[in-house]
Amino acid sequence: MADSRPALAIDIGGTKLAAGLVEPAGRVLTWLQVPTPAGLDAEQLWRTLDALIGQVLERAEVAPDALVGCGCGSGGPMDWPAGLVSPLNIPAWRRFPLRTRLAERLGGLPVRVHNDAICMVAAEHWRGAGRGRRNVLGMVVSTGVGGGLVLDDRLVEGASGNAGHIGHVVVDPDTGPDCACGGRGCLEAIARGPALVQWAQAEGWRPDQRDATAKDLAGDGALGHPIAIAAMSRAGRALGIAIASATCLCDLEVVSVGGGLSQAGPLLFDPLEESLRVHARLGFARNVTVVPAALGQNAGLVGAAALILAADRYWAGD
Ligand SMILES: [Zn+2]
Repeated sequence: MADSRPALAIDIGGTKLAAGLVEPAGRVLTWLQVPTPAGLDAEQLWRTLDALIGQVLERAEVAPDALVGCGCGSGGPMDWPAGLVSPLNIPAWRRFPLRTRLAERLGGLPVRVHNDAICMVAAEHWRGAGRGRRNVLGMVVSTGVGGGLVLDDRLVEGASGNAGHIGHVVVDPDTGPDCACGGRGCLEAIARGPALVQWAQAEGWRPDQRDATAKDLAGDGALGHPIAIAAMSRAGRALGIAIASATCLCDLEVVSVGGGLSQAGPLLFDPLEESLRVHARLGFARNVTVVPAALGQNAGLVGAAALILAADRYWAGD
């Protein structure tokens, strides 16, 4: 008989910590989230997570030994599969032994930790826009540009668990901006939300509020502001170029695009589609479809759970 025990799923990001229980078919049963506290040290932050886990288990009236395991997505970089995490947006944790600490907390339960963008992709392939397809690129376009790759129905890990870093595929080596990775003209340097805002402001966009975000920019674009439209279009073109390259390299069927910026709709997706069609010319590559991610705010939890519940496809770590 199939194992009917739920998995504990955890999603660790710079803005929120979330935890929930996910049943074997991928449905989130119960979940809670708290804002990621700032200004804490490593142990204080761990205690916040520890308390959140306790609340979820208590609410669901489940003891750790009634779980099949724990999957956790975290911002990177990390040592994989060891699960030593150093999330860029969480300075308190530098090589924090998250996997080991979770295993201790949960009485030796199987625990698996992976990059949060990888978890989003696993979720989209398992239960979202890539369901039923064998070759899928998932992308998360927000403060950064992350991604992951499923080929022949399995998550591709690469030599160090880092396959799928589409954000650092080069789309404009000559005139593109410098990238945080040290390179130049990477997709992320052009299409990450803050880069769009910076570009638009340099072009003369004057938002109403001081700390304007890409969401405000998309809002102005929807109202017809020409610089905002140009900024979204620039990001869309860059995405299309990167997707065309990835499609030719990997013979993809579907590309799912999630993250905050994917909410911009046609302002982003129309220029994306246009540049994709310009650059993806080989017959097989023309068949690729680009779709918005189908899972909403719980995608991170569903994907984290997939590391345990669908490990044959989404975990090759150990
Ligand atoms: Zn880069």
